[in-house]
Amino acid sequence: MKKIFFLVGLLFLSTSIVFAADDLIDVGIAKYAVLEAKKDYAPIRISPSENAQRFSHIRRGFVLYADKQNDNFYRIDLGEDKPFWIEKKYADVQAVINEKRIQKIDKIEFDEDKESYKIFIPLYIQNAYSFKEVPDGLEFNLYDVDYRNIEIKNKRGNFNIIPVKKSVLTLKYIAPALFGYDVLPHKDGLVLQIKKIPKINKKKPLKGIKAVVDPGHGGEEKGVCAFGVEEKDVNLKISKQISKALKKRGAKVYMTRKRDKYVSLHDRVLFAQEKKADILLSIHQNSLPDPKDVVNRHGVGMYYYNKQAYALASQLQTQLLKQTGFRNDGINFASFALTRPTNPVSVLVECGYLIDQNEKEKLTNKKFQKEFAKALTTGVENYLRYLVVF
Ligand SMILES: [Zn+2]
Repeated sequence: MKKIFFLVGLLFLSTSIVFAADDLIDVGIAKYAVLEAKKDYAPIRISPSENAQRFSHIRRGFVLYADKQNDNFYRIDLGEDKPFWIEKKYADVQAVINEKRIQKIDKIEFDEDKESYKIFIPLYIQNAYSFKEVPDGLEFNLYDVDYRNIEIKNKRGNFNIIPVKKSVLTLKYIAPALFGYDVLPHKDGLVLQIKKIPKINKKKPLKGIKAVVDPGHGGEEKGVCAFGVEEKDVNLKISKQISKALKKRGAKVYMTRKRDKYVSLHDRVLFAQEKKADILLSIHQNSLPDPKDVVNRHGVGMYYYNKQAYALASQLQTQLLKQTGFRNDGINFASFALTRPTNPVSVLVECGYLIDQNEKEKLTNKKFQKEFAKALTTGVENYLRYLVVF
């Protein structure tokens, strides 16, 4: 019996592999389907799985070219060495065509204000783009363009066009540290916005800084429940203390919720962007699927996605370890809705584990919450001081 099952299993395995490879079909009667993104920041992934690593994202209304498809994904040709993928639910087919519409870019125009560089790129179709944080700055790639006759107007800051690929405009921003960047849709193209390192007062680094504090969960979404405590309530209490401490030291602070209500992840990010925040701190309490594991795994931990946020995460972790005496649960890379934004600089803080009785006692104690908030605020100040060294 066992042998038969094994054989049947093997058969399934081999057919499914063959099937997966054969699964791709053409996009229609022409070579390319023109796709328009219907969700803002829709993920572009490195393989056709919803859990696959993200390569980039695309803003709503922007365009991609697909050359193949399977049941759930379009295969995207960005003119790179390998293909990328977008889930069908995030894109509408606008047309099928045999040649990509390569756009001629004849100029890019620089502008700046106190806070950021703004680079306008005129386009009649808003094409796919990607960012790459490199050790000496940031690379911005714009796909499916012809920039042979490009003129650079009012150049500011330390930017260079790097000729890497013929159909990809690579604009490099050279900087020792990054403080937020994004692409803003514009009716005649797009604007690449890159924030400058703020000029700060070393004694009062938070003066003029805008922070969004995001108490995780809320309403029917309770988060972790342990020892009769709900995470959403602890998050809110600690967030209010953090907000107070940041304000006291000069920051302008906004909270994504001030009471017990449900707020979607998308709305939290949108709120932070609308407020033009410099930093975004999402406040959570941790847990584990099996409470027995808490013997080994507990303590305070940071989560970041973009490299630029690592410095903030690291300064927060140093201060919070010192203040709490909790175990070091690490500075962890994680793709969360609240860690992915490239602007503001975003970190998710897991204050401790509510399923650890000792940590739960402390995290629900008002005096401890105040001290925690103060230590976190010192961490933000040290991060700003560290930035200004550059
Ligand atoms: Zn949580």
